[in-house]
Amino acid sequence: MTFGPGEVDRLGLFLAILLDENTRQNLTAIRDTDEAWEKHVLDSMTLVGVLAELPEGARVIDVGTGGGVPGLPLACVMGQVRFTLLDATAKKTAFLARAAAALGLTNVDVLTGRAETIGQLGSEHRAAYDAVIARAVGRLAVLSELTVPLAKVGGLCVLVKGARAEEELAEAKKALHMLHTAHAGTVETPTGRVVVLEKLRDTPKMYPRRDGEPKRAPLGVEKGKA
Ligand code: SAH
Repeated sequence: MTFGPGEVDRLGLFLAILLDENTRQNLTAIRDTDEAWEKHVLDSMTLVGVLAELPEGARVIDVGTGGGVPGLPLACVMGQVRFTLLDATAKKTAFLARAAAALGLTNVDVLTGRAETIGQLGSEHRAAYDAVIARAVGRLAVLSELTVPLAKVGGLCVLVKGARAEEELAEAKKALHMLHTAHAGTVETPTGRVVVLEKLRDTPKMYPRRDGEPKRAPLGVEKGKA
């Protein structure tokens, strides 16, 4: 990929703001700038290839964005797409709103809440997004229930995963079936693996279950194996 004018500077500024805030609240275990370029910026950029197919004005939500990864670095380089950064912790989203303003980003919305709540039937966020992205929020059997309800039918969940992607996919097989979702592919990247899911039909109305339930009893995973 190639960067537009000012984009690399903006990514550097994001890291500076993130590492500075990290001295006040715990947002990342990474304290070194060089490592942060790889683990935060480069790891985020591995989603650009898949997201580049989205039309202008498309909407993407980053579920459990924490310090803004991967959504905020992506918003820095994909001005034609609108990013919603979701996290359950208000202190984190308050930081993200300040960071987006400091970076001059006009394509970012910040939302405080739980994916289980905003994914419910009747919520304006359910089935509202062309793509749902996430990193380090849980294994696929859990994460699929948190992300799929937010995607439009035909939309994608583009999930940053590591070496265990295949194992997690095998475990999530039933969950994906229950959520009317297919594994569209896995992309090998310089930093790990990106798993792409495609929502085939409407999510059954009982999903997502109430707060904490997806993690406590992952969908389609036999008790005891969770
Ligand atoms: N995506 C970031 C942060 C990962 S830590 C990164 O890769 O660096 C996981 C984050 O997800 C935490 O900030 C936590 O508050 C948030 N989170 C966990 N479960 C959530 C849920 N059900 N809904 C919304 N946010 C959630």
